[in-house]
Amino acid sequence: MSVSVNMDSAIRKMIDDYGVTAACSEFLAQEPGQFINGRFTQGHSSERIDVIEPSTGRLLTSIASGTRADVDDAVAAAHSALHSGPWAEMKPNDRQGLLLRLADLIEKHARTIGEIETLDNGKALGPCIDMDVLGGADLLRYMAGFATKIHGQSRQVSAPGEHVAWTIKEPIGVVGAIVPWNWPFNMAMWKLSAPLAAGCTIVLKPAQQTTLSMLYFARLCEEAGMPPGVFNIVTGKGSTIGNALTAHPDVSKISFTGSTPVGRQVGGASGENLSPVTLELGGKSPMVVFDDADPEAVAAAHRWSVFFNAGQVCSAGSRLYVQRGLYERVLEETVKLAESMKLAPGLDPECDMGPVISSSQYNSIRGYIEQGVAEGAKLVCGGYEVDGDGFFIPPTVLAVEDNRATVMQEEIFGPVQVVMPFDDEEEAIRLANDNIYGLAASVWTQDISRAMRCVNAIEAGTVWVNAHDLVDSAIPFGGFKQSGFGKDMGPEQLDHFLRTKAVWIHI
Ligand code: NAD
Repeated sequence: MSVSVNMDSAIRKMIDDYGVTAACSEFLAQEPGQFINGRFTQGHSSERIDVIEPSTGRLLTSIASGTRADVDDAVAAAHSALHSGPWAEMKPNDRQGLLLRLADLIEKHARTIGEIETLDNGKALGPCIDMDVLGGADLLRYMAGFATKIHGQSRQVSAPGEHVAWTIKEPIGVVGAIVPWNWPFNMAMWKLSAPLAAGCTIVLKPAQQTTLSMLYFARLCEEAGMPPGVFNIVTGKGSTIGNALTAHPDVSKISFTGSTPVGRQVGGASGENLSPVTLELGGKSPMVVFDDADPEAVAAAHRWSVFFNAGQVCSAGSRLYVQRGLYERVLEETVKLAESMKLAPGLDPECDMGPVISSSQYNSIRGYIEQGVAEGAKLVCGGYEVDGDGFFIPPTVLAVEDNRATVMQEEIFGPVQVVMPFDDEEEAIRLANDNIYGLAASVWTQDISRAMRCVNAIEAGTVWVNAHDLVDSAIPFGGFKQSGFGKDMGPEQLDHFLRTKAVWIHI
């Protein structure tokens, strides 16, 4: 890697003001390459893509703009590592040991990874370290345990003659993993932990906006002793790298997290290739609050759902339905929370909410707020422009009366809560299900029978009761309807990366 002098002075000043680890400074002083076959490389093209720091809107660094030829190299390396060499021959307990070592290294470098992520993505540093980074290490440890527990089954068969028959579980092959920019490190951990435990090899395509934390992670893979070719990173544009990866004949499985429109294209390309695909897509998750709920608890949940990560959360509870008796009270508590949150660069220890990722995301969110108001929504709080060059949007609450309003139907992917009253349980369930997405939902009530009726009736991959946005390595996460199919995390995910072979012996 060569030394970069590109970093903007405003970012340098911010880094000096808040301080970052020496390892973060050293990493940012490099010009990051791609990571292919255990080597950092610029790849086949000298073109670079600017990386913009979201709280200043200034140039942080640049990344290599990968090409189809780079994808070919990465897939060839992954294919070779799958079939020969140390990874192919590695015993399950050694594979488990390697993944556990990697998790230990993530933990050791958690602050540095968090700082890099914060500068790249804008998110608040404290939660980033705790949830994105250490949460990622937790998932790696959880999945590492499965490396030693993969097994087929011996079966008694009724076919004429004398036979023994059994099944073998094999790694599915080279996995193409594509991740979004809202949880760059964490989503990558969701994508790579299970396939590595299963013995697969991986070509990862990070979002072009947020590549840096994965390139730092690649160094940790080397340090942990991961053989070359097992894990590869091709950086660059989704349209180039993503298309090349999904259409590649030597990629046996695509694991994608991102928006529903792109997921549809990815699903189409994988179908053409006849390779299985997991699609973790967009959401517009309802929070259904009944009269007997605790309004303060509902508002507090917004901090970790719709206002968390500046609202760039797939499962954000961004449709708030409140029964009329509690409507004003919940609105009041929500506004109180929204107005108390401090907007600041993610490195600021007092930051409650950082900027959104980019100027285009900023414009898109502001466009939704304006459209909401134009369609008749009442702007209850937020919605104003924040001074400065950064992409800050204040926590915003819109009140609507019509469930078909655009802001109630489409994924805004920003800190915008849209709230609407309802009369009874039947109406609440109808409203909650009146959306193309089915990623997650929450129900707020003290009545356990009503909670159970709602859990059964709501079409979503996850339903929380009196909570929102809880995730755990042991619990599968994934959507229904236009939110995709397949699961990340939990034992269910491992199965996506194993293929079953049947073996017969005629005695
Ligand atoms: P996106 O769909 O624009 O991009 C996702 C990834 O796909 C990026 O790496 C992008 O470069 C790549 N890509 C773009 N075009 C491609 C193509 N033609 N072929 C293959 N890959 C291509 O999504 P985004 O804006 O990065 O992320 C936000 C979206 O992700 C939101 O809709 C959010 O709800 C969703 N998301 C879902 C989950 C989940 O678990 N369901 C988690 C996080 C984010």
